[in-house]
Amino acid sequence: MTVYGGIEAGGTKFVCAVGEGPRAIHEEIEFSTTTPEETIGRAIQFFNGGTLDARTPQGIAALGIGSFGPVDPDSSSATYGMITTTPKPGWRNVDIRGELARALGVPVAFDTDVNVAALGEHRWGAAQGLDTFVYMTVGTGIGGGAMVEGELLHGLVHPEMGHFRIPHDRRRDPFAGSCPFHGDCLEGLASGPAIKARWGVRGENLPHDHPAWPLEAYYLALGLMAVMCIVSPQRIVLGGGVMKRSFLFPMVRSELQRLLAGYIQARAITEAIEETIVPPVLGDRAGVLGAIALAEREYEARDKQG
Ligand code: ZN
Repeated sequence: MTVYGGIEAGGTKFVCAVGEGPRAIHEEIEFSTTTPEETIGRAIQFFNGGTLDARTPQGIAALGIGSFGPVDPDSSSATYGMITTTPKPGWRNVDIRGELARALGVPVAFDTDVNVAALGEHRWGAAQGLDTFVYMTVGTGIGGGAMVEGELLHGLVHPEMGHFRIPHDRRRDPFAGSCPFHGDCLEGLASGPAIKARWGVRGENLPHDHPAWPLEAYYLALGLMAVMCIVSPQRIVLGGGVMKRSFLFPMVRSELQRLLAGYIQARAITEAIEETIVPPVLGDRAGVLGAIALAEREYEARDKQG
């Protein structure tokens, strides 16, 4: 079997793994995201076997990285694989892909954290067999990755599915929104930090019957409605910390049906919406496993080119 490396490069922590898929992870390590030098250094050390004794003798064939951002995922660009305008101190214009490629001497593929999670769910999870779907995360932020007709969607830069505006009735919800750029965009109204700022309590500590949840389901359904109307995904996988409150799923599904008002005539919405708006099968593992799937895709593409 060909063995790959994967990195889920998050703003709070890095997860690095070596393996072939969900049932064959040979080594894995997790550590806090500190300075770029220290953090990337630890990843290099891990893949070089510096801290491990059970290293596969042939090493990894390719490495995949799913990174927090904003990033440059355009492989023809001079800044490909770099974290660009992040507000995270010290990480602006860091060439994460380049440093790992130089240190490890293997092909390194790079994409956004959410595109990579989408790829993981496509390879081994909730989106197997589909060619057009969206993976959205609702947690510290709101982001979305998309596969459209078999290809991960980048376009101009990459989609920013948390940052469009949704209707905001300030009589019902006077909270101004928490996005530093837009105030009351979708992320500003419905992310984990928005819930905490509005109610003064973290979402995980709010009871099921709290008024926070109908409002949250409404906002998320407005977001999903836009995604559904624009991308026409066959499925939307909803991950992230906020969606661990699984009672939100039926609430979001029925709000989405109500908002769409019978306009999109597809069985996936009118009759089988519980198969269309779904949690990730890989759960918190979508990121690191998606990074391994990205490495596999890169390796196989190069192999085909000879
Ligand atoms: Zn925003």
